[in-house]
Amino acid sequence: MKQHTLRRGIVLRFVLIVLAVISVISLASNVLITWQFEEYVTEQQSIQAEKLADNLSYQYDPESAAWNLDYVHGTGMYALEEGYILCLYDRDHHVLWDAENHDMTLCHQVMGTIAQRMEEERPDLKGEFITREFELQWEEQVIGYLDISYYSPYYLNENAFQFVDALNRILTAVCVISLIGAILMGLLLTHYITGPISHAVKTAKQISGGDYQVRFQPQSKTKELSELAQSIHQMAESLEKQNTLRKRLTSDIAHELRTPMANVSSYLEMMMMGIWEPTPERLHSCYDELQRLLELTAELERLQQAEDENLQLHRSDVNLLQLAESVRNQFQAQLSEKRQSYEIVGEEAVVSADSGKIQQVMVNLFSNAVKYTGEGGHIRIRIEDREQAGIIQLEDDGIGISDEDCGRIFERFYRADQSRSRKTGGAGIGLTIVKAIVQAHGGSVTVRSEIGKGSCFTVSLPKAANETE
Ligand code: ADP
Repeated sequence: MKQHTLRRGIVLRFVLIVLAVISVISLASNVLITWQFEEYVTEQQSIQAEKLADNLSYQYDPESAAWNLDYVHGTGMYALEEGYILCLYDRDHHVLWDAENHDMTLCHQVMGTIAQRMEEERPDLKGEFITREFELQWEEQVIGYLDISYYSPYYLNENAFQFVDALNRILTAVCVISLIGAILMGLLLTHYITGPISHAVKTAKQISGGDYQVRFQPQSKTKELSELAQSIHQMAESLEKQNTLRKRLTSDIAHELRTPMANVSSYLEMMMMGIWEPTPERLHSCYDELQRLLELTAELERLQQAEDENLQLHRSDVNLLQLAESVRNQFQAQLSEKRQSYEIVGEEAVVSADSGKIQQVMVNLFSNAVKYTGEGGHIRIRIEDREQAGIIQLEDDGIGISDEDCGRIFERFYRADQSRSRKTGGAGIGLTIVKAIVQAHGGSVTVRSEIGKGSCFTVSLPKAANETE
């Protein structure tokens, strides 16, 4: 398909629209001039002839039964100049006054000029001089007859032609001005529209080329254009984020794998070389490292499942309060080891959810609370039953998270404090799994935290399965 630029397309369409409008206007005005105006002139001519006949009948004096021939002469000469050739007869059909007899040269000159002009200007009209006969009466008595010859169906005098010419000139000027206006408007409009679009295309190309740093914020008052700019801006931002995350993911996985594998490898090497005795403690260390690796791969698998777009939820009515109790029981040993206290408060809340997955959410949140809360700390689970949703709130008085980290802890492999978290054994996947599961249920998870004071995670799960899931 042949493609042309937006600028050309818009200007072309503008010109086409204006041309169409001009054609319609020209056609309409032509019809107006040809039909209406000419019809009007024809009618006026006929009326004029009747008026002349009427006027002349007043020049008859019934008492003396004579005509005022001076006046008839004046009227006849005036009418001749207007293109009417008069011939007045008395009641016995004797000629009283005849324009042709009176001034034949002038008569022919007038007739010739009219016929010539009309043939030149309106060749299709095929007009000719006709003669209309009028019976002149005085108090219902015939006093004479009048023949009026004029060019039929109509003729235009000098003024009328000037009027039509002026109209045509105005129309032509309007056409030219409109066309120039259309082109200018089109150019202006395209400049207004294509400016930001070209900018967007350029930016999109840069982004597709891998330059995610580029930002696009054209100043446009048009809603759609600002939305386009906004979308590209967000796309660049999210691609940049994804890119950083991908790089980080690779380096994190490599790092996570390297430490335990290097440890196991060096332990085994020492034992093979006979430097170390394979004591049960040493073998246990190797076993622990391998366990960490297994745990990491299991967590990666869980993440992959949770983030799977085709994640199947096996929904049933889940009592969040009961689920919290059973999760807490799993952590008894760790809680007493760190001498941490806990409480479960709130009310029964039943949601339609995948019980196993929601348990996973609670386990991840609880395990973090235990991990990131010092000895003697306090953990509280609150369950709330709202009209549309069940709420799980997990609060601890642990180390807390900075504002900056709060926005990122749900990202894959993100740890608020890399070195400290690694010591605690976390790989930065737990919260990513939480978020993926909660979102698959159509819910949301948020965090509120303050460094040194503790954190509070709130999960909101809609009670009924969301149709759009
Ligand atoms: P990890 O396995 O490292 O705990 P998570 O995804 O569960 O991974 O958590 C991401 C990061 O969020 C953690 O490394 C930690 O820095 C921070 N975090 C999560 N929960 C808490 C909490 N209750 N208190 C303080 N920091 C937390």
